[in-house]
Amino acid sequence: MKPAPFAYLRAATTEEALEALAAHGTEARILAGGQSLVAMLNMRLARPSLLIDIMRVPALGRVEVEGDDLCIGAAVRQAALERRPDLAREVPLLARALPWVGHYQTRARGTVCGSAAHADPSAEIPLCLVALGARVGLRRRSGRRTVGAEAFFAGTMQTECAPDEMIDRLIVPRRRPDTGYAFAEIGRRHGDFAIVACAAVAGPHGLRLAVGGVADRPVARDFPPLDGSALDDALNAFAWALGGRDDMHATARYRRGLVRRMGRQVLEEAMACRN
Ligand SMILES: Cc1cc2nc3c(=O)[nH]c(=O)nc-3n(C[C@H](O)[C@H](O)[C@H](O)COP(=O)(O)OP(=O)(O)OC[C@H]3O[C@@H](n4cnc5c(N)ncnc54)[C@H](O)[C@@H]3O)c2cc1C
Repeated sequence: MKPAPFAYLRAATTEEALEALAAHGTEARILAGGQSLVAMLNMRLARPSLLIDIMRVPALGRVEVEGDDLCIGAAVRQAALERRPDLAREVPLLARALPWVGHYQTRARGTVCGSAAHADPSAEIPLCLVALGARVGLRRRSGRRTVGAEAFFAGTMQTECAPDEMIDRLIVPRRRPDTGYAFAEIGRRHGDFAIVACAAVAGPHGLRLAVGGVADRPVARDFPPLDGSALDDALNAFAWALGGRDDMHATARYRRGLVRRMGRQVLEEAMACRN
């Protein structure tokens, strides 16, 4: 199938993109890497009358260290971040998770912020943002705001980004001292979306586990330092609280089992690599 007709604007500046969003509202869509949007256009699941291409806006193509954070602009492709030489030292969780996002060919086009905006509940990047307590920078013509990742993801492919807003950057905390990070996922084939994905952060004051692929958005839970059967009990309670359902990929029971087993695996791995 072919997309419905649309107009195309290649924005030269962020301000030009925001002007167009303000003028066209729900009729317009941001085009980033196109790896999700173009399929939606072809299937006519989205029928915008205007696409605003932001990939040639120089200000959006930067990755910058600002204090304790790594700031990732809206035009930064997933493969560019993956190739960043210092990423494993700066944000180890993202370095571990990015190779799981689709295929190298899709990462060569898709953007980090586009994955956050698309908000697939099984996607790896939103999961990492929630696990790390990252923030989402939103801009509209009349101003800007920042929303915590946990609040930003509002449901399956739903976010707090309003029709006249765009994500201009993600603000991701850099590696903290005495903290370990781990990531694991199960999918049908390499490059598929996760059936269940787990991201763990183990710090001096406790543990944090985020799970994707079960609820309608990535969900994180903080635990005090636990081990043995106390950790099993806490993971079991979390697995039930996520409220997964049977679907064509897996049963809810199978997913709960994965949360218990992979959750424990990533938490132990994160505790073991604290430094
Ligand atoms: C074969 C294949 C396999 C894939 N496998 C995976 C996978 O395993 N895991 C995974 O996570 N993803 C996977 N993806 C999706 C991929 O990661 C996409 O790149 C990502 O979901 C969207 O990023 P994009 O830059 O391509 O955004 P686009 O497709 O351009 O846009 C997606 C949506 O986000 C909006 N948008 C984009 N950028 C912004 C912004 N800055 N502000 C506001 N709205 C914005 C668009 O308007 C659109 O609604 C796969 C894709 C393909 C084609």
